[in-house]
Amino acid sequence: MRNSDPKNLSLGNAFLVTLFFSIIYTLVSYLFFQFRLLPFIIVNVLLFVFVYLLLRYTLEKFIYHKIRLIYKTIYNLKRQKGTNPEKREFAIKSIESVNQEVLEWGETKKLEIEELKRAEVYRREFLGNIYHELKNPIFNIQGYVLTLLDGGLEDQSINREYLLRTEKSINRMIAIVEDLETISNLETNQVSMKMSKFDIVDLTKEVIDYLELKAKKKKKSLEFGAKYDRPIIVEADLKWIRQVLVNLIDNSIKYGRLKVGKTEVSFFDMDENILIEVTDDGPGINVEDIPRLFERFFRADKDRARDKGGTGLGLSIVKHIIESHDQTINVRSRIDVGTTFAFTLKKS
Ligand code: ADP
Repeated sequence: MRNSDPKNLSLGNAFLVTLFFSIIYTLVSYLFFQFRLLPFIIVNVLLFVFVYLLLRYTLEKFIYHKIRLIYKTIYNLKRQKGTNPEKREFAIKSIESVNQEVLEWGETKKLEIEELKRAEVYRREFLGNIYHELKNPIFNIQGYVLTLLDGGLEDQSINREYLLRTEKSINRMIAIVEDLETISNLETNQVSMKMSKFDIVDLTKEVIDYLELKAKKKKKSLEFGAKYDRPIIVEADLKWIRQVLVNLIDNSIKYGRLKVGKTEVSFFDMDENILIEVTDDGPGINVEDIPRLFERFFRADKDRARDKGGTGLGLSIVKHIIESHDQTINVRSRIDVGTTFAFTLKKS
């Protein structure tokens, strides 16, 4: 790039022209007149300066004219991103500075394109997942309704059963759509966290009471990891944190041990935060599945998870809620030992 700089180009060419002229001058002077050093030097110096200035002026004018066009185009593209057009003029300091700007601009564009490509892949996968999730209940409903219309309605042995199954499939679709709406609202920041101070022990007790019956049916017990006599006050959005606890405790019931199992909720003081852990003694999650657990529609044990009626969106919602509180969530799991989901909340 340095060699193509107008200054260097002009210097080089002026030197060549002067050299050429000095050779001719010397030859001619030997043939026609006496060679004199002083005029020779003066003429060459003047010629060098003249040629240099002329070349530099012409080159810069030409190159800058071309570059200005490119620069203006880039600048206009950049300006769409919110720069104030009036205050900026197209003053190009040097070719290097333009080169630098163009390189930077190119790098930004490259990153933007990569980001767009990633978003496109993500969007395609997401649409594919939605299709996959909704396909089953829709086709099931279609099957039941067709059977009922084909005479099943009069058949006392199946009519009620098929209507109940239809209702189950409809409920599944409603659950998927509601979860998708929740995620979309959380992602587009349409919900703002309404922070308040409340007792997390009390809220956990409320959630345990709410899920007690479901847990009993599956022979699971829901307990506190220790005795918490005193309130533990946190600052968070109570409604959304209730949702987090429901999702995590519900998962521990769904994916816990097949026979008798136990879920424990514990609290730990961590200076500014409270760490809340939901631990089960279930079959655990494979190490390779752990990093993907919070992805939408991800299921560690696909067939089993779908049977359990999950939408595959529960943990994704949990992560969004915790991150909206500027807090963190993580998971530890060991096969045949159990799983622990741990998240933090600001201590009040
Ligand atoms: P779902 O709505 O299907 O329950 P989630 O997002 O809540 O989806 O969970 C994603 C997957 O993580 C589940 O399908 C399940 O395979 C796995 N998982 C979640 N919690 C647990 C747990 N406590 N023990 C074992 N696996 C779990």
